[in-house]
Amino acid sequence: MKDPRGNQKTVLVVAHRHEDIGLICEVLNDTDYDCITAHTGIEALSVITYQLPHIIISEIDLPELNGYDLCRKIRTGIKTRLIPFIFIASSDKVDDRITALQTGADACLAKPFNADELRALVRSKVNSFDELYQLSITDELTRLFNRREFLKRFAGELENPQTQSVALCILDLDFFKKVNDTYGHQTGDLVLMKLADILKNRASDSFFPARFGGEEFVILLPGTSAASAVSTIDGLREELSATPFRQAGSNEVFHISFSAGIAEYPSMASNISELLSRADQALYAAKNDGRARTYIFRPIMARNDRFWEYLKTRKGTFFEAPFNEPVSKLPYLPQTLEQIINLDYEVRSIGVLIIKLEPLFNLRELRGQRNIDYDIENIKFIINWACQCNFPSDTYLAVTNFFSHEVIALFPSIVDFSYNPDKFKALCSDISMDFFIFILNYFFDIYFSGDVIYFEKGNPRGLLEEIEHIRDRVYLLDNKRDFFVNIFNEVRQALYDTTSLKGVLEIRSFYNFLSMKPTYNYCSSCNFIIKSDFTELLLRESIAGSDDFERFMKLFSESFAGDIDCPLVIPWVAAVELDEYARLLGMALPDREVVLMINESVLESIPPELLAGVASDLPVNVSLGIDNCYIGNDILNILSTVDVRLLCFSENIIRNIHLFPERIKIINGLRLFADELGIPVLARNILLEDEFQILKDLRIFHAAGPFITNMLQDK
Ligand code: GH3
Ligand code: MG
Ligand code: MG
Repeated sequence: MKDPRGNQKTVLVVAHRHEDIGLICEVLNDTDYDCITAHTGIEALSVITYQLPHIIISEIDLPELNGYDLCRKIRTGIKTRLIPFIFIASSDKVDDRITALQTGADACLAKPFNADELRALVRSKVNSFDELYQLSITDELTRLFNRREFLKRFAGELENPQTQSVALCILDLDFFKKVNDTYGHQTGDLVLMKLADILKNRASDSFFPARFGGEEFVILLPGTSAASAVSTIDGLREELSATPFRQAGSNEVFHISFSAGIAEYPSMASNISELLSRADQALYAAKNDGRARTYIFRPIMARNDRFWEYLKTRKGTFFEAPFNEPVSKLPYLPQTLEQIINLDYEVRSIGVLIIKLEPLFNLRELRGQRNIDYDIENIKFIINWACQCNFPSDTYLAVTNFFSHEVIALFPSIVDFSYNPDKFKALCSDISMDFFIFILNYFFDIYFSGDVIYFEKGNPRGLLEEIEHIRDRVYLLDNKRDFFVNIFNEVRQALYDTTSLKGVLEIRSFYNFLSMKPTYNYCSSCNFIIKSDFTELLLRESIAGSDDFERFMKLFSESFAGDIDCPLVIPWVAAVELDEYARLLGMALPDREVVLMINESVLESIPPELLAGVASDLPVNVSLGIDNCYIGNDILNILSTVDVRLLCFSENIIRNIHLFPERIKIINGLRLFADELGIPVLARNILLEDEFQILKDLRIFHAAGPFITNMLQDK
């Protein structure tokens, strides 16, 4: 799609007859407008998909798709909904005008229209549209470009094959909080505006400034080396420090300085997030060394910023403690036995509980490795918790075989359990039930087994053998697999018998829990025994190609179009090419806003050019979102370069979040980033009040799940 906001304004004129088009174009011809034309509503929609006009002038009576329907579609399109729309009615009937306004048009002129009136109308609508557009890309206080726009241009600069080198500078005012505290916030604002003016005065093709947030500014210097950027920035600092400031009504003069960090592409970083991180690290070093200075990034400055550090280091799994299992960080069984042997009280027997989890699906493919890591962390916590609640003695957790997700809990006891092994088995059963309830929404079948063994210190090999025997007798706690297979069959059948999908699927909502209003819809299985929303899995199992998907969407729109009152969030199923999937979605629900969610675990496998191509060529009612977001290495790059409109956190990362401070930081980091880009974030499947409270603190306001539903019911 061409950049819609060049200097020449484009008017799309839609009329059935050549003469009518000619008449309108003639009126606008002597002004600054470039007319593009369409003879039918459908043609107009297709023109719009490759060139976004600044204004649309359309007749009401059109073949195929009439003017009203055209206008309605324009108003539901994410990219098109703000475009001014003027109707030309064939006669001056009040009813026509009312309907025109009701469909969302900005004005309606009757034929024969007055040429001056049309010109004036077009000019005023285009101007106010431009103002809206300007507002959306600039920062209110300083009128510099905002972060979103900056990142967009930054991405464009790095993608440009002609770009040889780019310097990036982040600057941050020194002790600015003190300025606010001493001279007042208004004076602080004046300082920010003054700095913005200084920056604007220097703006050129090789000096592109923006406000990054708060008292932090960024400058992109295309074609500039880091070394020459330093002298430019130092010149800037001299100008600022020479500027006297005073509080309104006071004679006391104060001065202000800034610190700056510079990094250079491509020599110091290979992508946007890395470059930003490098410049930020240099800034941090400049602050640390006394402020009022400009530093170029050097590797030694790579500081331990937790968020960036996380992104950099978590590429794969790595060993933290030499003998612990790398993902769960639990010790292996022999190690734990050794620990128990060395306890300073005498252990007569140990209770052994083995919990084995069998994934129902290829989880790695479904949710990505990182998500499984979060799973493990959660599960480890839940087992521990269940043991502590049921069992008064010390608990030692270990792994016996991690590749089959097998955890063992050992309860060394002074009291001799062996007198009463049945009591211990009953306890094991309680523990596994508690555990089972907590893990209901995970895609695992659970096996367990428990018994008591004598503890012979001198014979560790014998202990291991006895534990082996316990392992041989595991029980399946519940058969989730059958349950899933049933649901999959039901959905598949509903597709082929063309019976209504309504018996097997239904529409649920994400709620904005501040306003208590539904904000996004999603489709889910009616059978909600498993608390998770597993629509993606359901669709993957039912849709093997375009034909299936087309059939599904046809049935889906027949069954549910009327139930959808918010943008619909729907997962992408890789059996259908992404662009084809988007096209079919757009066609099936032409009147609905749809967010096509790409699971983060498959993002890696989509070439960036392909993703960008699809993103820029979506049907008007479809946009892209990222689902199951567990914050992989490239997520910031994608958010900065691709037009993403929604982010949904992985439920595994949100699960029990109140217990994992590290995750809170990680989520907060990404949420702040998404905020700057204006991307709403969602959280699925909220089960606990504690999770909910943390979400609130993190300012993630859109959520779905049993807790939210209950909360709404209680209101
Ligand atoms: P340092 O030298 O370490 O950067 O110290 P600092 O005080 O500048 O840094 P800190 O990040 O602690 O404080 C930044 C302050 O900037 C806090 C915040 O109130 C202020 N600030 C952020 N945005 C605005 C704004 O739009 N107007 C005003 N007046 N102040 C702002
Ligand atoms: Mg700051
Ligand atoms: Mg500061």
